[in-house]
Amino acid sequence: RPVIGVLALQGDVREHLAALRAAGAEAVSVRRVEELAAVDGLVIPGGESTTMSRLLVVFELLEPLRARLRDGMPAYGSCAGMILLASEVLDTRPDAECLSGIDITVRRNAFGRQVDSFEEDLDFLGVGGAPMRAVFIRAPWVERVGEHVEVLATVPEGPAAGRVVAVRQGAVLATSFHPEVTGDRRVHELFVGMVREAIATHG
Ligand code: GLN
Repeated sequence: RPVIGVLALQGDVREHLAALRAAGAEAVSVRRVEELAAVDGLVIPGGESTTMSRLLVVFELLEPLRARLRDGMPAYGSCAGMILLASEVLDTRPDAECLSGIDITVRRNAFGRQVDSFEEDLDFLGVGGAPMRAVFIRAPWVERVGEHVEVLATVPEGPAAGRVVAVRQGAVLATSFHPEVTGDRRVHELFVGMVREAIATHG
């Protein structure tokens, strides 16, 4: 079974560990460099992106994590995790670091203050079955996608219709929403499959 880490500096770590286990992976918390070095892939959970960015520096994980992403380690970021994986972030603090794991520009808290959280049924490209219930909590959206980035889901209707909320580039996956809080394991299964594929390809 692939060993998948969940970055455990802040945010909803336990929900991702449980979802990964349900999706067939061995899931471990990652807080130290040695722990990061031992995983086949990494989930960056939701939480608060500027706090997590600061803690990455404090825990001396920022550069090791950038290095592993450059080496092709699979990664999945939800919400704050999407913000951290982006190459450019709008409406954030000037000192917030990003990891540039995926060529996208995201806007933090993009859906506005009035709509702190909401739910939508989405069509998610490449996963079979019924539409996916997506829970958004002070979520970002993707404002620009690089030419090698695949759009996997958009908001179907309402004032934010058409906004991009799930993307993939190579072994890096990101969603604006929180699949770990619903019982739907399809996004985690997709990511576990991506990690298996990376192991099969690169050993
Ligand atoms: N608004 C948070 C941020 O900017 C993200 C919210 C979340 O992860 N649910 O980091």
